[in-house]
Amino acid sequence: MGQHLLLLIPSDSYRAADFLAAADAVGMDVVVACDQNQTLEHTVSGKLLTLNFLDLTRSTQRVLSFSEHYPIVAVVPTEDRATSLASVLSKALNLPHNTLAAVEAANNKKILRERLKQAGLPCPDFQVYSSALWPETIADGLDYPVVLKPTGLSGSQGVIRANGPDEFVAAFQRIKRLFDDPDIIRRKGEHPEEILVEQYIPGKEVALEGFLLKGALSCLALFDKPDPLEGPYFEETIYVTPSRIPHLLQQSITTTVAKSAEALGLTEGPIHAEIRIDQNTPYVIELAARSIGGRCASVLRFGTGFSLEEIIIRHALGKPLPSLEREKQAAGVMMIPIPQAGILKEIKGLPIAKQVTGINDIEITALVGQSLVPLPEGRHYLGFIFAKGKTPEFVESALRQAHQKLTFVIDPSHDIHP
Ligand code: ADP
Repeated sequence: MGQHLLLLIPSDSYRAADFLAAADAVGMDVVVACDQNQTLEHTVSGKLLTLNFLDLTRSTQRVLSFSEHYPIVAVVPTEDRATSLASVLSKALNLPHNTLAAVEAANNKKILRERLKQAGLPCPDFQVYSSALWPETIADGLDYPVVLKPTGLSGSQGVIRANGPDEFVAAFQRIKRLFDDPDIIRRKGEHPEEILVEQYIPGKEVALEGFLLKGALSCLALFDKPDPLEGPYFEETIYVTPSRIPHLLQQSITTTVAKSAEALGLTEGPIHAEIRIDQNTPYVIELAARSIGGRCASVLRFGTGFSLEEIIIRHALGKPLPSLEREKQAAGVMMIPIPQAGILKEIKGLPIAKQVTGINDIEITALVGQSLVPLPEGRHYLGFIFAKGKTPEFVESALRQAHQKLTFVIDPSHDIHP
């Protein structure tokens, strides 16, 4: 009975292939646990498991009995949605882990705000409202602009800026409608209820990819987000590292993120933070107990060529870690936004876009024939463009050039959110 690594991979994760490749590189036998029935589960015993990521007690019992036949020596969640189960499983199996309270705080925007405020860290003013309220009764008393967001979703889904009472009422109702989406109810296990309303923080935004070892934070990469993120919806596009902001400010960002992780009680493994910088003060907007989402991590290489996923798996296994220093050249990724709702008919220009100097790869993850839903209701991208080069400026320009060469033909007559 060999030792096994348990990967908790939600069925719609972009990250399965990268984590499986990393497990292979580390030389581990893998068990993949998914949150939806896998038809092949019974034909490949010891390789696949279906677990309800929300039913922590039953899923833990299931894994413990599974582990009697296929010993599990490490548990790695690939997405926010799997971090609570990973925490409980790791505790039951006596493996190093973040506490359940800490990962639940990271997964809930209201608790995150409360913890940052209690710790005296920069934090926008905020209020949480039940979605059952009439927004008209709140709208006139707010100090605009504000950002409304569901407390328990991610990927900017349902995050909307409002500049005045009318926009606030419309945004509130739009989020309320989103809460009835059966896919969201399935993912959350319940009908979401709460809407966080907070002060809009102006300024540049950066993302910090970090790693916690016994509570100490290492910054793996600080990404600039050169496209303005001013709303009303906050679609991610370009990430480029190393950051071009002044070194002292970078240090202050890392310190603030480290204190924020401490305030939540996070101590082990990857973290991903989104930070706004208003007048040189870093505000942590989001702090997730996972690594960077989508396929973005594939532009990161550490030490002698290790992927981020290999570092995460080695850490979970208690193996020695390679250098956490990123390779010297600049790197960037563009999450290709959905320009309009509809059915994706055709993708043009891919071979030419791939030839742009500096472009390493372009991966289109949307499928022809698929219904495309942009933010704030949607949560997927058309795909990812990856670039590397000498400077962040070069990388950013390569990403923009490649994107310009791509055309996505979309039939808008199938927009389900007119
Ligand atoms: P999610 O976890 O769903 O991605 P976030 O809270 O991180 O939600 O918000 C998504 C994006 O919305 C942020 O990266 C940021 O660009 C923008 N945003 C969210 N809250 C604020 C705020 N208070 N001020 C300014 N921008 C914000």
